[in-house]
This record gives sequence, structure tokens and C-alpha cells, in this order.
Amino acid sequence: MNLILMGLPGAGKGTQAEKIIDAYGIPHISTGDMFRAAMKNETALGLEAKSYIDKGALVPDDVTNGIVKERLAEPDTEKGFLLDGFPRTLDQAEALDAMLSDLNKKIDAVIDIHVGEEVLVERLAGRFICRNCGATYHKLFNPTKVEGTCDRCGGHEFYQREDDKPETVKNRLAINIKNSEPILAYYKEQGLLQAIDGDREIDDVFVDVKQIIEG
Ligand SMILES: [Zn+2]
Repeated sequence: MNLILMGLPGAGKGTQAEKIIDAYGIPHISTGDMFRAAMKNETALGLEAKSYIDKGALVPDDVTNGIVKERLAEPDTEKGFLLDGFPRTLDQAEALDAMLSDLNKKIDAVIDIHVGEEVLVERLAGRFICRNCGATYHKLFNPTKVEGTCDRCGGHEFYQREDDKPETVKNRLAINIKNSEPILAYYKEQGLLQAIDGDREIDDVFVDVKQIIEG
């Protein structure tokens, strides 16, 4: 089973990825891990990627694609793989099709863990910090026991980091949504896209994921 997993930040993609690789024993291929491995093993492409990363520059598509292709050619992908964080652009999606065709492979399904923007903002922008003692809380996942009072020091003043503020989160999400739309459309057109409602319990979401993989 050759899968691509998609989902916006906060949608629970990482959790579902772990459950998939545990249940099906296929390798989890994420671009971050691939870059690290290629650099550690000092492959030609890994060293090239490193030269960009060291300069703080974006790694060009042809280098990224080359690293993905090297990874997909490894023998542990025989029974399948889970691609995560790639493709990020339409160009990369098209390059992926070409490299898979070279390797006599194809994508079986693109699973999109979908969660509405408002819920994502609640999840991602929920973090707040006690101004007095620095204790960290989350409105949804880790609230104070008494509303407005720090569990640790009894303080009543809280603040949010710039990165955790709803406006910042919304802007970041908007960029992610804009970037993912053409990729989702690309796979929808190919009949590969399977959207799952991610605004549910982790195990309920995974029931749907399994149905796609096994169905
Ligand atoms: Zn406190």
C-alpha cells in the first residue's frame, strides 16, 4: 500500500501516521527524516541539501525530489510506504508521479485528515502561560483547574506567545491551506483523494483510515 498522508497543522496527521506504520509495518517517509538521513550518510544529494540548509536557503525541488526518489528506491518500500510532508507543491506532485513510474510503483491512496479551520485555530491557538511563574496551559487540552487561576502559583495573569495567538495561527493556516489546495485538487482529479473527518476521537479517525487502506 503506497500512501500519501495529508493534513493541516493541528489536524492530527502525526498521530495517524504513527498508528498506520504500527499497524501495517510500512516505512514512514517524511521529508525531515529523509533530509537528516541523507546528510548523515553524506550522499551526494544529502551534501547538496546541506549546503542550502547551512546557508538558511530553501532546498531546491530537484534536490528534494532526488532525495525522495533515493528513499523510495530502497528495498523496505517493497510492501508499501507512507509519504508525509511530500509533495508540498504541484511541481513536486508531478515529479513524484514521474519517479514512481520510473520505479514501477504508484500511489494507491491520498488520505487527507480534514479538520475545519475554526477547530484548528482552537487547537493551535489554545496555549497560554502564567505571567507570574511561567506555567503553560492549553484551553482545550490542559486548562487550569479553576478558570483564571494558575494551578501552580495562584496567579491570575496570563499571556500568549506571539506564535500561539489566534491571528498568527490563522495567518499560518491560511498559507498552508493555499499551498495544499492545488495538491488536493490534483489527487482528487486522479480519483486518489480520500478525505476523512479528523474532528473526532483519534481511534474513530483511525477506523476510517483502516477502511481506506484495507478497502
Ligand atoms: Zn503561575
